[in-house]
Amino acid sequence: MLQYLVILLDDAAISYCHYSKSHAKSQPIPLDVLRKGIRFAMTENLMLQFVYPEGELPESVRKEVETIDHSKIMPATSPYAAEADVLVCGWDSLPQSANVPVVLRTTLADFLARYKDIFPLLSVAPRLNVVFTDTESFADEEVSVYKESLSALAGELERLYVNEKSPQLNLLTDRMMLKEMNNCGAGDTNITLAPNGKFYVCPAYCGTGEGIGSLELGLSIPNKQLYKLDHAPLCRHCDAYHCKRCVWLSERLTLEVNTPSRQQCVMAHLERNAARELLSNIRKHGIFLPEMPEIKEIDYLDPFEKRDEWL
Ligand code: SF4
Repeated sequence: MLQYLVILLDDAAISYCHYSKSHAKSQPIPLDVLRKGIRFAMTENLMLQFVYPEGELPESVRKEVETIDHSKIMPATSPYAAEADVLVCGWDSLPQSANVPVVLRTTLADFLARYKDIFPLLSVAPRLNVVFTDTESFADEEVSVYKESLSALAGELERLYVNEKSPQLNLLTDRMMLKEMNNCGAGDTNITLAPNGKFYVCPAYCGTGEGIGSLELGLSIPNKQLYKLDHAPLCRHCDAYHCKRCVWLSERLTLEVNTPSRQQCVMAHLERNAARELLSNIRKHGIFLPEMPEIKEIDYLDPFEKRDEWL
């Protein structure tokens, strides 16, 4: 069931996920499109998330945004960053502290070289989401180095938990706190409205193809069951509950929105296994998340290897 509508406030709205930042020329959303988008969200009872560009927006757009409850996703460098509900940054704009969740977009190589730079932020920001911009290039030779970086981060998180902090890092702490899948939900629980008045499965698809309807013609998601977990033959048997299960990445790498790539699965399983270790290590210091079951030990990194048991 749809729950969220993401509205891009500009053709050059920032990326807060795997897809590349738009290279479109900045062009703010027309006021009538924004108004109709807000009306659509109200009639469908959807929560709104507005995505901002790097630069300024017309005052009329900024005022219209304030006519309804919403969250603001903004670049850390935005002139309005103080109003953000989620800050998006790269290594160059990584804040020293933050009172809202932070999304760090990074290549794997930069992450491996610089992950220790996020240690200070872990203890002060309410949440840090690390999002890889080049998941498709993850190779099996990188398994051990990624594992090492997760282990070092887990060591820091353990230290913080023992010192009575509650850091949240999507790569490690989400899985400890989940009993079921909690994925992105693009095309299922959320859709995106672009400034051209068309709906898309997620911001990654904006500007490509016809989309999934428009404000004028209404919403029309072809084969919409394919975006649901129960129509994802591998994911529905998987327990990497924190995995984004990115449909855009899946379609890009396997040509099917409901068939994940090896890269996505192996990275998510390395994180799952590191979360297992972290949970067990924190529990050596005392009672921790007593309501959560232990995370099982498994002998695979890609659920595709177990397909004969599931399919
Ligand atoms: S790890 Fe792979 S199978 Fe599991 S939820 Fe993620 S994409 Fe689906």
